[in-house]
Amino acid sequence: MSIIEVKNLSYTYGVGTPFEKTAVKDLSLSVNAGEVIGVIGHTGSGKSTLVQMLNGLIKPQSGQVLLDGVDIWAKPKEIRKIRFKVGMVFQYPEYQLFDETVYKDISFGPKNKGLTEKEIDRIVRKSAKFVGLSDKLLEQSPFDLSGGEKRRAAIAGVIAMDPDILVLDEPTAGLDPKGRDLLLTQIMQYHRARENTIFIVSHSMEDVARFADRVMVMNKGKLEMLDTTKKVFAEAERLESMGLRVPQITEIMLALKAKGYEIGDGILNVEQAFLEIVNLLKKEGKI
Ligand code: ADP
Repeated sequence: MSIIEVKNLSYTYGVGTPFEKTAVKDLSLSVNAGEVIGVIGHTGSGKSTLVQMLNGLIKPQSGQVLLDGVDIWAKPKEIRKIRFKVGMVFQYPEYQLFDETVYKDISFGPKNKGLTEKEIDRIVRKSAKFVGLSDKLLEQSPFDLSGGEKRRAAIAGVIAMDPDILVLDEPTAGLDPKGRDLLLTQIMQYHRARENTIFIVSHSMEDVARFADRVMVMNKGKLEMLDTTKKVFAEAERLESMGLRVPQITEIMLALKAKGYEIGDGILNVEQAFLEIVNLLKKEGKI
């Protein structure tokens, strides 16, 4: 059952000015509830513009975004409600923090839903826990946190709204590899517990390969591919032609295949590569 459907969506910045730029062109797609969709594409390919249209931050000039079958712009006055259903974490989510304490920041969403203090408290603590923020940090000013902690706080604030769909635009930008890994693991734990739908825009093919069920590839405002992660990353040459690459391990395995070794397509991680190589060595009687 599709939770979100996009029909012939287009958006042009600066219409009628010398800076006119079409960012998204006639784009259609359908995503099922519970899917994790990786969004990849060269800088300027329209990823951010597209995801901001999914929660009504940008109004498309043509086309529709259907949420559970209903056009999100059917009642323009209620567009703010959509932001509780489609939660958006920006590229630098620390700019989404504005309150005196982390606790107050995270409670902003549930408060707006008119919940009781007790319910709000439960949600704030649960959301903070999902992203690994300690109770002690909740009482601090968001501005005193480290970069990684600020990011966690901003994500907790969005999770606290309990959106059915979570859109993450480069959630790990600027974090070190360890911090990146931890944050993504926590987001995926949350995903499994909540069974929500996730769009994750990322420049890291490794991250996308690890977590996405399907990958959409944007190219010059168009949807170039939307397929299983395995199928998309089997198209190394096509991705390269768009300035993208496949995960490094996939690249190595494709290179071995090109050298004549019997290796399957779409190897996405080191564990799969290890098994494939063991099988190959067994077949050749080397182990
Ligand atoms: P991506 O997220 O893939 O980098 P964007 O959606 O940010 O792509 O940008 C798509 C195109 O729209 C780019 O050519 C970009 O320069 C242009 N663009 C983005 N934001 C604006 C804006 N606020 N005003 C004018 N042009 C913009």
